[in-house]
Amino acid sequence: MSSTEKIRIDGLSHTYYTARGETAVLRDLSLAVAEGEFCSLVGPSGCGKSTLLGLIAGLTPVQDGRVLVNGAPVHGPTREIGLLLQRDHLFEWRTVLKNVKLGLEIQGQRSAESRGRAHQLLTTYGLAGFEQHYPDQLSGGMRQRVALIRTLATDPDVLLLDEPFAALDYQTKLVLEREVQGIIRANGKTALLVTHDIEEAISMSDRVVVLTGRPASVKQVYDIALTLPAERTPLGARNAPEFRSYCNAIWDSLDIYLRDV
Ligand code: ADP
Ligand code: MG
Repeated sequence: MSSTEKIRIDGLSHTYYTARGETAVLRDLSLAVAEGEFCSLVGPSGCGKSTLLGLIAGLTPVQDGRVLVNGAPVHGPTREIGLLLQRDHLFEWRTVLKNVKLGLEIQGQRSAESRGRAHQLLTTYGLAGFEQHYPDQLSGGMRQRVALIRTLATDPDVLLLDEPFAALDYQTKLVLEREVQGIIRANGKTALLVTHDIEEAISMSDRVVVLTGRPASVKQVYDIALTLPAERTPLGARNAPEFRSYCNAIWDSLDIYLRDV
């Protein structure tokens, strides 16, 4: 792994102000993600994970602290960052191909090259022949794959993934985890994945960061070292001898009791 820092968060705090009062969501959170690293964030529901991704993506203005991507403060959405969410946010009235081209169009990329890239990604990821289909003709897994391709079409170097597999059934989830991890690693992308699934976090990541309850800060960081065959896959990782002990340690660290759920 390169030691170049792709994302750096220093002393980040965030509070929402609404008619019903103030909610302190992040408090003095610091975290760095290296170039090419796959890092996961786990934490109690409502602790501020999506807020953190929104701040890194430039969708939410920083109130207090610093967020740097590629060494520069984030001031708004940029090409460098791609976002994949739990709900795929596909437009039902646009075909698969037109959904994939949307991100490119927003960025003013209408060149033959970017159109070619959209076609090529659809072919590479098993959606050749579905270009003219509409989202409601696809399975949940295929829809999420289209959303991923739309994100990748603009060639971001950082991917922020906010529970992208949470709505999928177990088999589809394992397949997509493998695909997404393969794509991200093969292309040298940097990834920050939010998930409530501890096994998913361990099986996909170089590092798992456990957050405290709200207001969230970093509670504990686990470097994941698994004994694996040459090609790392999320399913293979689940069979590594060290896997269970990471699960238990992270579960303990999350410190979730019945009173919290
Ligand atoms: P997580 O993704 O970890 O579940 P979120 O970042 O979505 O947590 O939310 C953290 C807290 O902030 C929650 O209590 C949520 O209700 C509150 N919250 C999220 N977005 C807003 C908003 N736009 N305005 C006010 N409160 C919000
Ligand atoms: Mg969330």
